[in-house]
This record gives sequence, structure tokens and C-alpha cells, in this order.
Amino acid sequence: MKSRTELSPEPVVAVVVAAGSGVRLGAGAPKALREIGGRALVAHAVNALAAGGAARVVVVARTELAEDFGRALAEAPIPWTLVPGGAERSDSVSNGLDEVARVEPSARHVLVHDAARPFVPASVVTAVIEALDAGATAVVPAVPVVDTIRRVDPAPGEETVVDRSRLRAVQTPQGFDLQTLVRAHRFVRSEGLAVTDDAMACEAIGAPVTLVEGARDSLKVTEPFDMELAEAVWYRRRSATAAIE
Ligand code: C5P
Repeated sequence: MKSRTELSPEPVVAVVVAAGSGVRLGAGAPKALREIGGRALVAHAVNALAAGGAARVVVVARTELAEDFGRALAEAPIPWTLVPGGAERSDSVSNGLDEVARVEPSARHVLVHDAARPFVPASVVTAVIEALDAGATAVVPAVPVVDTIRRVDPAPGEETVVDRSRLRAVQTPQGFDLQTLVRAHRFVRSEGLAVTDDAMACEAIGAPVTLVEGARDSLKVTEPFDMELAEAVWYRRRSATAAIE
């Protein structure tokens, strides 16, 4: 893996959004503070970003959980700051971007990552940064879709089964030219557009989106079963590291 200094000359800052309600995960601690291997999901996510080349992170969380997040991030390997979340994910990202401009005024590139993806491999993070360094404006890690996808209530003449060879499931961290992403968020807000990720916001202002290879390990913890899968990923990785040592 490349070291941080071999990547972007300017420090790459990552925004980690962790201000969702996490209702689909059921009762218990807020999702980003759920632990695997004694560490909160948000802390795993920050470690992964740092290992892949991020130099600093802005974590977006609900204000009332600031102290809990502070404890969860106490051993983070890179500097972090905490900012309050917004009503929608895109509002939370916007709050994070304001903070990036404050803490790292020279930042050219920014990563946006969901705390709900704690085990993104460092190699994916690095691939996103490298694509930005190579001149991409918006970079998205993605994986092929393995299920057959059926469209429900298709419009007349529309296929019910969608050709999956042309589909990709999109992950995070997504990487951006910072100024483009700031403009994109302003635009979607002023137009009242609903976007589920930041690349969609960039496309709304005509910015091209580049795909890099994602990883199945980078699963998104949404429902209780996803926690079981994430635990399996963690314990497999831990045993692989222990075998090398
Ligand atoms: O709701 P969804 O699964 O798309 O959330 C993805 C990520 O965005 C999660 O990490 C969640 O905590 C974050 N989020 C946020 N602020 C919101 C909604 C979601 O930071 N208002």
C-alpha cells in the first residue's frame, strides 16, 4: 500500500456521516456506536480511512451523542472534529463540508464516507484518492450486482427484469473535488432535489462520475443481520492478521 505522502500532496480530509437514526437496526445503541471487537463502528470506519490515506476526519453526529462519540474516537489514529448532523443525509454532508473548509482550508479533495460501512478495505480508500489525484472530479467505488433484479410495477413497455450486467451497487467512501461537491450540495438544496449519495448531487450539476472497484467487505450495516456479517468480516480479518504476526 502507498504511504500517505506518496498520495495527494494536500492532506485528504474525510467526512464521516453518522447522524442517521439507525431505526432499521432495531433497539440498542445508535448504529455508529455499536461495537464489534470492542470498538465502535465509527472508530472502525475512521481507522479504515486513515489506513487508506486520509489525514484528518470530520465526523457528523447527533449533538446529544457528542460525548459518546468523543469516547468512541479517543484512540483514533488521525485528528478528528465532531459537527452536528442535519435532517437528511445531504444536510449532514453539507455540515461536514463547512467544517472541512474551516479545519483544512487548503484541502482540494474530500472523501465522504458512511459510518455504516466500517470495514471498507484500505485499498479501496487508496484507489479513490488515486483516481482524484489522476484528475477525476467525483469518484465512486462500486461492485457488480449479484442478484437478479426485478422491477416492480414497471411502466408499459418496460422490462420487469433489469439487465444486471449493466448495474453496479455503489459504496463509500466517495471522493470529490471539494469545490465541485460544495457547489453540487448548494444546487440540490436550492432546487429541492432528493439525492441518496453525493455522486448523484455532482451529476445534477453535470460533473462526470468515475467508478473504481469497491469490495464486498465494505458492506453497509443497516439491518440486524448485517451486524452478523460485519462481525464475521472483522473476526476473519483479525485471525488473518494474527496468523501473519
Ligand atoms: O440512511 P442511510 O442508510 O442512507 O444513511 C447512510 C449514512 O448517512 C449513515 O452512516 C447515517 O448515519 C448517515 N446519515 C446522517 N444524517 C442523516 C441521515 C443519515 O449522517 N440525517
